[in-house]
Amino acid sequence: MPQIPRRRPTAVREPLQDRPVDGRKRVLLAAPRGYCAGVDRAVVAVEKALQRYGAPVYVRKQIVHNIHVVTELEAQGAIFVDEVDEIPEGSHVVFSAHGVSPMVVSAAEDRHLHAIDATCPLVTKVHREAVRFARDDFEILLIGHDGHEEVEGTAGEAPDHVTVVNSPAEADTVEVRDPSKVVWLSQTTLSVDETMETVNRLRTRFPELQDPPSDDICYATQNRQVAIKKVAADADLVIVVGSANSSNSVRLVEVAREYGAKAAYRVDYADEVQQEWLDGVATVGVTSGASVPEVLVQEVLQVLAEAGYGDVEEVRTAEEDLMFSLPKELRQDISGQRDERALGGRSR
Ligand code: SF4
Repeated sequence: MPQIPRRRPTAVREPLQDRPVDGRKRVLLAAPRGYCAGVDRAVVAVEKALQRYGAPVYVRKQIVHNIHVVTELEAQGAIFVDEVDEIPEGSHVVFSAHGVSPMVVSAAEDRHLHAIDATCPLVTKVHREAVRFARDDFEILLIGHDGHEEVEGTAGEAPDHVTVVNSPAEADTVEVRDPSKVVWLSQTTLSVDETMETVNRLRTRFPELQDPPSDDICYATQNRQVAIKKVAADADLVIVVGSANSSNSVRLVEVAREYGAKAAYRVDYADEVQQEWLDGVATVGVTSGASVPEVLVQEVLQVLAEAGYGDVEEVRTAEEDLMFSLPKELRQDISGQRDERALGGRSR
């Protein structure tokens, strides 16, 4: 059975109280936050597949790491599975934004599945780097979290050449065959600071360590971390909207704590905000991970307004306008129909 997290039953929540604090109550709302171009494309890909082929459309793993998004797509007819062998032969399957290894692609072919690859193009870029460095017989130190789908997919491109480095501490102990032929790559959704610490420690041990040709940590992860650093410096409390299995959301909580927030918590839904988090809090920072629809942030703002935090100031550190075109399998099938999303994703 799929191990995909589900929305817990809605709790009956006591309304938050507007208690007095020292200073003016306010919210600093980080921007950019929420949906990135890769998540937007993946979600639209499932919606388009459902419209084009009809339900059910199968999705391997969570299309993006957000319970709300998964629940909404299930209501439209998507069926989420852990592996392709759970899917009836000949069905349509969407591969998630986190990417898949070549083994998964070939397992889908063996079952004659019609695959739509919604891997984020920025994850595909890392896959290509892994293939190229493996071809040149480099040992690849892949900084990332063992067991995360993206890491499994990237490592699966060159299993004999990749060693996963989970943390700065592991950089001190990892062994390589030939220290003169080592390169580091990374998961796209890590903490920038922690990754650089890992790289520095690796370079102390392997001075000839090569860098990736360009940043592997993606623009969206970096931008959200820069924004929350600025907010956290002035915040008594930071609330990050995002799911527990969302790497970039969890990193935002850590970054907020590191950069000055007195406390930081992650919530999937507004009804998880606790009264005691607000005790003595004048300034609340709010942000959301790259897989989080804006509606969930607005619900958190509503709940905070009930508690007296109706004064919301946006703190913007970057503009984002990147959009990716839909997966090629859908573009081909939809070509001929007049549909702007087929060519350019969507903005909202
Ligand atoms: S977080 Fe970055 S790598 Fe992941 S889907 Fe979004 S843009 Fe792509």
